Amino acid sequence: MARVLFINVGSEGHINPTIGVVQELISRGVEVVYLCIEAFRERIEMTGATVRIVDGQQFIQAFISGGRDYLLERVNGLLLTADIVIPSVLEQIKGERFDYIIHDSMFGCGRLLAQMLKLPAINSCTSFAQTKESFDQIMERFYIEAPTEIVKPIDDKYQSLTVKIKERYGGEIHSPYEVFCNPAPLTIVYTTREFQPYGDVFDQTYKFVGPSISSRLTPDHFDFSAIKGKSLIYISMGTVFNQAIHFYKLCFEAFGNTDHTIVMSVGDKVQINDLGPIPKNFIVKNYVSQTDMLQYTKLFITHGGMNSAHEGLYYGVPLIVIPQSADQPIVAEQVANIGAGIKLQMEGLCATQLREAADQVLSLSTFKKAVATIRDSFRTSGGYHQAVDEIFESSIGEKK
Ligand code: UDP
Repeated sequence: MARVLFINVGSEGHINPTIGVVQELISRGVEVVYLCIEAFRERIEMTGATVRIVDGQQFIQAFISGGRDYLLERVNGLLLTADIVIPSVLEQIKGERFDYIIHDSMFGCGRLLAQMLKLPAINSCTSFAQTKESFDQIMERFYIEAPTEIVKPIDDKYQSLTVKIKERYGGEIHSPYEVFCNPAPLTIVYTTREFQPYGDVFDQTYKFVGPSISSRLTPDHFDFSAIKGKSLIYISMGTVFNQAIHFYKLCFEAFGNTDHTIVMSVGDKVQINDLGPIPKNFIVKNYVSQTDMLQYTKLFITHGGMNSAHEGLYYGVPLIVIPQSADQPIVAEQVANIGAGIKLQMEGLCATQLREAADQVLSLSTFKKAVATIRDSFRTSGGYHQAVDEIFESSIGEKK
């Protein structure tokens, strides 16, 4: 039986697409040992995988301490996580045999660990894939455009961290791209080549398997009978940058006392009491099972997280995308490009603008048509089944 080491120290958006992959691997006879943070233990254990834990608090602190303003600072943040992840993983797998690694494209030092353990690796990419060329262009702009007093300390830190990692773990780091994107001989991307920006520039080592959406294994206590048959708008800003109290209040103003029923998931960092009076047609929760909710939803107002956008479109729901950071502006752009929704800016957004955008998306048949087309392409793309087919067909995952 093949044994796989799955390294994924990411947040929920990095975890969810892998759930179906792990279940499918296990159902086809593979044994999976999955390293994640405590918050996802239960979810991963339910797949049948063996779970080992990396300290999430220490990990996020190390990552954030690198800085957030520039891409190279985030690279440094990822390098700083090496001291949290690598010793912990090595200790927890001591004496065990694995055939290959599957690692997140960003979180968990997957490329370094694969190198150190001398294991073939598969990259699990839960955002759009990025070529080295396009990444290097961003880096080049930073080196040219940012003032020297900003560039120098960040670059010095990058250089010293890479030297330290080589001394401490023997891991070779050739470029910031390797740290940020963890390239591997096989990369599974959870979108279609058509929806991926510049999809045709990626070679055959990139497998675009489409959204990997599997049923949620953990129970949701939401009373779905309360929303059946209603004109439902679902609002969520995801699980990371979601402390958007001002925006949630704006939603009250835009949709309070309308004929719509609104379910709004505000994340676990917001106290619902802090939102003030809640209009009668709103149901506000800290968390809902989004893939279940979307099956009742007519319009999804989202931050444009890669998963949220894919899940919405997979269930045939048009989107209003209000991007916050990371890859969200690119996701928003793609959604608007294919006509499956409207992109709005958070800055300066007012209630009227939001309500009018919603009216437009809900009433114009062009949105419905575009959404039906992308929904069908997502549904036929294969998702996690395809991901495991690709793994098995590759030299890395072929029957061991
Ligand atoms: N999610 C959920 N319930 C919520 C909020 C989010 O199930 O109330 C899930 C959502 O289905 C998605 C993930 O959390 O799979 C969020 O990932 P995404 O890439 O959209 O955004 P991020 O949280 O990384 O910003």
